[in-house]
Amino acid sequence: MLREASKLCQRLARHGLVVASDGNASLKGKNAIYITRTMSEFEGLSVADWRKMPHKGDPRVDVSSEWRMHQIIFQQLPEIKAIVHCHPVFATSFAVLGLGLDGTLLTETAEFGIIPVVPLAPPGSADLAGGVVKALETGRVACLLAQHGALTVGATFLEAVQRMERLERLAQIQWLVTHRV
Ligand SMILES: [Zn+2]
Repeated sequence: MLREASKLCQRLARHGLVVASDGNASLKGKNAIYITRTMSEFEGLSVADWRKMPHKGDPRVDVSSEWRMHQIIFQQLPEIKAIVHCHPVFATSFAVLGLGLDGTLLTETAEFGIIPVVPLAPPGSADLAGGVVKALETGRVACLLAQHGALTVGATFLEAVQRMERLERLAQIQWLVTHRV
């Protein structure tokens, strides 16, 4: 499970959706959450870069600084089993501008509907986590984080990864379409 997830994280890096240690990801297990460690790089990510943390409470291990957001999403939205967070160039540009994305522009992103921008809150804070839950609680599968990046979820890790790939492709196309001459 973690081997496959590591390969998918590497794919996100290969496609340029994340650089350096600017991404984090998690999987919901039966008795614990598996989350990427702090400062881990998606490029070359391996099974050793994952940490086990409890469903509730302090992880007490060197997990991603954004662990709270992952833990609260899993707690409050039980149908979600995987979370991917990256800072892809186009999607993050929309997030910096405070503009959402329109998934209905493309057939393959229609399931996204309107992708909102979660209001600005410090990375890693409970406020940010609460904003994300609010954006996703209607069954939405993706959101942007103001001045920060993008987040996608899925019933499987592959689903969350594919949604991140499609979200960035949508952002590229929406950018081109809205800036046509
Ligand atoms: Zn981030």
